[in-house]
Amino acid sequence: MQAVGQSTSRRGWLTAVPLGIGGAAGIYWLLGKSFGETNYDPAQVITMIQFDDAGKRLGPLAAHKVFRTDAKWRDKLSAQQFFSTRRGTTDTPFTGTYYQLHDAGLYRCICCATALFSSQSKFDSSTGWPAFWLPLAAENITTKEDRSLPEPRTEVLCRLCDAHLGHVFDDGPPPTGLRYCINESALRFVAA
Ligand SMILES: [Zn+2]
Repeated sequence: MQAVGQSTSRRGWLTAVPLGIGGAAGIYWLLGKSFGETNYDPAQVITMIQFDDAGKRLGPLAAHKVFRTDAKWRDKLSAQQFFSTRRGTTDTPFTGTYYQLHDAGLYRCICCATALFSSQSKFDSSTGWPAFWLPLAAENITTKEDRSLPEPRTEVLCRLCDAHLGHVFDDGPPPTGLRYCINESALRFVAA
């Protein structure tokens, strides 16, 4: 068994080639299946903060980032919700109902149900969009620079599913001075 003949080596190599191709195809199939059907990216795990519908903080939760194809997002969302969250469009101001809603409750991501904002930090910004001076948990959102307009803005996204939520500005009320200007179509209100 110690002496490996050339023919055995060659046979081994020749055997390995189709196996290698088969393996690559298998991995590709598995990735496709995983991304296409399970909706979660197994390679990306984040720690987010979980809240129950009453707004009670349940603590940190390790979660796979949510991934769906556009076709699957379209199945789940209305056209307005799809373009807003997955393409970054902005709702027409003074449309919908959330901009003037001040009932107690929390606002979850329309795409993945992550708890994003609370009625406790909601205020009337007079802009026609829902506005908050603080997210429910910093861990549940991300921000990035948006240079799509001449004046740079800071985009706000859901950390779990990368949904575009809106933008954050520094003209908000105390205590933070921030104004998270969020599209209603990115949110689902859950009454307390
Ligand atoms: Zn989300």
